[in-house]
Amino acid sequence: MKKNIGIEIPGICKACGGKCCKTFPGLATPEDFGAPDRDLMREKLLKALISGRWTVDWVDQDAELYFVRPAIKGFEGSVFDHAYNGECTFLTNTGCELDFSERPESCRMLIPKLEERCDPQGYTRMYVSKIWKDYVDVLIDVAIEVENSQ
Ligand code: SF4
Ligand code: SF4
Repeated sequence: MKKNIGIEIPGICKACGGKCCKTFPGLATPEDFGAPDRDLMREKLLKALISGRWTVDWVDQDAELYFVRPAIKGFEGSVFDHAYNGECTFLTNTGCELDFSERPESCRMLIPKLEERCDPQGYTRMYVSKIWKDYVDVLIDVAIEVENSQ
């Protein structure tokens, strides 16, 4: 499946200074990690989790509602993390260190607004973790593999 591209309005975000990124990292979707190609997903997740800059978070572990997001500053290297807020590891003084196309889907889809709240377009933790549910076997398998190798 092709990744949703989203829009970037650097003028607005530069003036804002990244309030969203300072609050909580954006949520990545399975497509950001190669879905529906499970082999590609395994490869990309492995690389991301080994780097320590990405982490697995969840809404409800019993219901297998997990998702992937960048790590929060100070928590890099945690394969699983459930902190509820904090600044994204990729935020620098000059903005996001990732190329636009490499950012999580919810970062790309967030519509910046000047006079009102920026529009997340429905990318909540619950919405994204439900999309991950089809791939939770790959996700947890890779996460445990990385955790066991640490
Ligand atoms: S999306 Fe909104 S909150 Fe985030 S940096 Fe841009 S203007 Fe600021
Ligand atoms: S990945 Fe980039 S755009 Fe997304 S929350 Fe982190 S710093 Fe912000």
